[in-house]
Amino acid sequence: MAVSNNGLQFLHELQQKLKGVQEELDKGPRLIKVKENALAKRQVELDEIKALHTAQRKLADQKGLQLKTNEAKLADLNAKLNMASTNREFDILKGQIAADKMANSVLEDEILDCMDQVDKLKSKVADAEKIVADAKDDVRKMTEQVAAAEAGLKERATRLLPAVAEAESIIPAEHMATYRRLVIAHGADALSSVENSVCTSCYVSLSPQQCVELRGGKFIFCISCGKLIYAPQA
Ligand SMILES: [Zn+2]
Repeated sequence: MAVSNNGLQFLHELQQKLKGVQEELDKGPRLIKVKENALAKRQVELDEIKALHTAQRKLADQKGLQLKTNEAKLADLNAKLNMASTNREFDILKGQIAADKMANSVLEDEILDCMDQVDKLKSKVADAEKIVADAKDDVRKMTEQVAAAEAGLKERATRLLPAVAEAESIIPAEHMATYRRLVIAHGADALSSVENSVCTSCYVSLSPQQCVELRGGKFIFCISCGKLIYAPQA
């Protein structure tokens, strides 16, 4: 096995490791964002339930006030009834009082329903508040988790970067520009291993001549995908 193959395999492995570390680093903020989005959604749901609760309470208050007004009116009608001077006046007032009593009874039922709804919504608000608190906790936990992992990942990246640069010293000067272009285009996949005479990046077969040259340690770029190829150790 030629030195170049071992060196390129090592370089490729380092690049893959660095890529893995960078992907992990990139993933952190996305994981936090997912939790933040979930929290924002829960917060909207809580606000909606709170608004419904407030509206229902206002409605109950309004109906309560209406009932008080109606009761005052009824007391007034009763006073008038006591002072009615004619039978006709008496009958009219009696009819009005009966109708108003009926209306108040309906209103009282409505108020009870309303209060019942207020209670139900209040319990829903409490549930939604708990869900929001849990979602906030999720964001905090994820943020801590990402921050804890980040320190280690950054340290690994700091160690891998110079190791990659050192491993790149195996590449001959005349191929360096091509290699750099490949790294810019493909990142950690600038290199490709050859297995069973096939480039594992594009699955095109090498000629027998190229296989011999590759094993002999020649720096070869795949004729199909252009990547720097190497024969890995078995
Ligand atoms: Zn290829």
